[in-house]
Amino acid sequence: MPPAFAFPIITNTRLALVAGRDNGRYQPLNINHNTMSYDQFIITKRDGTTESFSLEKIKSAILKAFASVGTPIDATGLTDIVKHLRFCNGMSVEDIQNQVEIALMAERHFKAAKAFMLYRQRHFEDRETAEKLDFLINYCNSINPATGSKFDANANVENKNIATLIGELPKQSFIRLNRRLICNRLKDMYGKELADRYIYLLKNHYIYKNDETSLANYCASITMYPWLLAGTKSIGGNSTAPGNLKSFCGGFVNMVFIVSSMLSGACATPEFLMYMSYFLQREYGDDYYLRADEKADLSLRQRTIDKVITDCFEQIVYSINQPTGARNFQSVFWNISYYDKYYFESIFGNFCFPDGSRPSWPALDWLQRRFMRWFNAERTKTVLTFPVETMALLTKDGDVLDTEYGDLTAAMYADGHSFFTYMSDNADSLASCCRLRNEIQDNGFSYTLGAGGVSTGSKSVLTINLNRCVQQATREGRPYTEFLEEIVDLAHKVQLAYDENLKHLKEKGMLPLFDAGYINIARQYLTIGVNGMVEAAESLGITISDNTEYCDFVGSILSLVEKYNLKYRSKNVLFNCEMIPAENVGVKHARWDREAGYFVPRDCYNSYFYIVENSDTDIIEKFRLHGRRYIKHLTGGSALHMNLDEHLSFAQYRQLLRIAAREGCNYFTFNIPNTLCKDCGHIDKRFLHDECPKCRSKNLDYLTRVIGYLKRVSNFSLDRQREAERRHYAHAEKTEITC
Ligand SMILES: [Zn+2]
Repeated sequence: MPPAFAFPIITNTRLALVAGRDNGRYQPLNINHNTMSYDQFIITKRDGTTESFSLEKIKSAILKAFASVGTPIDATGLTDIVKHLRFCNGMSVEDIQNQVEIALMAERHFKAAKAFMLYRQRHFEDRETAEKLDFLINYCNSINPATGSKFDANANVENKNIATLIGELPKQSFIRLNRRLICNRLKDMYGKELADRYIYLLKNHYIYKNDETSLANYCASITMYPWLLAGTKSIGGNSTAPGNLKSFCGGFVNMVFIVSSMLSGACATPEFLMYMSYFLQREYGDDYYLRADEKADLSLRQRTIDKVITDCFEQIVYSINQPTGARNFQSVFWNISYYDKYYFESIFGNFCFPDGSRPSWPALDWLQRRFMRWFNAERTKTVLTFPVETMALLTKDGDVLDTEYGDLTAAMYADGHSFFTYMSDNADSLASCCRLRNEIQDNGFSYTLGAGGVSTGSKSVLTINLNRCVQQATREGRPYTEFLEEIVDLAHKVQLAYDENLKHLKEKGMLPLFDAGYINIARQYLTIGVNGMVEAAESLGITISDNTEYCDFVGSILSLVEKYNLKYRSKNVLFNCEMIPAENVGVKHARWDREAGYFVPRDCYNSYFYIVENSDTDIIEKFRLHGRRYIKHLTGGSALHMNLDEHLSFAQYRQLLRIAAREGCNYFTFNIPNTLCKDCGHIDKRFLHDECPKCRSKNLDYLTRVIGYLKRVSNFSLDRQREAERRHYAHAEKTEITC
């Protein structure tokens, strides 16, 4: 049915952009409409454009509302309605329509008022559909899915297709729903004012709620022990406990898919290789790794144990890198860990498999090396993003305690492998995924909990845009710490509200990962993220280098967050603070802040303590800037991505591990872009600028870490591609590092 009348100012399909009432003063309407002083007024339309104010159009819309319900109205009646209206220059269409509704009600024209409201609602829905249609068309036309995504690009989608489009469409609804859920809870816990303040801070980009397009809690490092005991039935699957190597490999993939479908971020399985080694021992004997060349199968293929192991790696890694339907055609974000001997002993020293046996360090040591080397070589054949690997090393007196693992780590980096290193002088914390580290309360295996010391993670991340907060404080003439204190306090309350909602979901049986023991809710953190640290310091004229002023500035902010982390900590609630990777947020914050007139020195905020495009900051200073003096309050971590233009030698990497240990830089990786030939598909571990060494093509793409994940640069969003282009890849002179 065509609309019975049309409100004449609506001429487009965009969302309402409500003009601030502060822009102009409301003018009381004179009785004599012909001598209006507001006839030079402009009206702000929904797309932000303007047109000149016309009282005739408003009257005409009102008359049409009456006509549509068959109620007559005379000139006096119309004047009585219009008398209620107040206009100001620049006011929005939405505002006028709201006033018309109220005026109709005030004059007791209820039928016409209802018709007018229904008409607006119908048009609102039309606009929403038209917007989705616009989005759909733009998405189809965009160069890649990261650029096409409007709200929150999925980090790990390579190709756009009907499945990724389906994943994009409901994102806005999820954002609205999540905001409502949090606000309702905030009102209950702290009152309406705080809920309103939360929305104000979100909409004005002082804070950013990560993963608002998902309902699930964020990321988890899971223990696979419940799976080993009972299969996937307790989390809604149908498989029984793995009984042999084959069912372990197949079942593992299914289990990771199920777990990931109930998380919005990464799923880490730090026990993966330890369990695989256990099944290899059961299949081929405790000394399988000493007999890897022996024939293991009677088939015509005559596979050796070593070949069987390779086949297992292939099956698992290729399966997990497949896009999955449950995650909008993303692959799952899968992380694994390697441990040196001391870390292993500290975490798994008391671990027992269900049959009472203990994990074997020599076997695991062999399998870890075997997997690393296989994965490094496999990555010259195919772009394999997952697993993201973290090498956990214990340090002592400025070096890696387990020197064999220090050497292995340096050798793997020198071989061109790309992975993270996590260093700690105490096995009391663990990198749960490619970004977050977490304290672990008790790192021993516990039968009563049914879980190892590896079960940790982050329930939810809420990020503070430091650059905007610090500059706004300056604008208002207030100390930035005072300004931030209110924001930090609110961020904690929002997280507590989130936690309360999560508890309710758990009580209703919606979170089987917790109930089944894969995740221990008491070891999950509420994370306060920070972004725009470097830019905030620059706005105050602070030089970004290792100097006292900058160090004090960083400390003043992060210690404030930590103070509140401790204040709101309770037996059941833990907080940590993370410098978030900000794959999309870094770009968004820079754009929003620039639009609002703040000082914005670059198009993407740094995720580091140094300026990523700055060629003056040398390698050692970067380690220092991510060293203990800067990161001591970052209980949730930050990852240093050391961008280099070429691979270093074994000796250089080994020395850098010592420097990292000495400086107290606990989480880092080396990032040397790999070259991918778009014509023949050849992947080279080096950062080549001229041509493909295999087919001489000049049509090259690069693999680099957008943030945590190794990904093709051409699959980054356009803004991120520009950032990647400007990154400074340091050239390390031998003398710099070895002396
Ligand atoms: Zn080629």
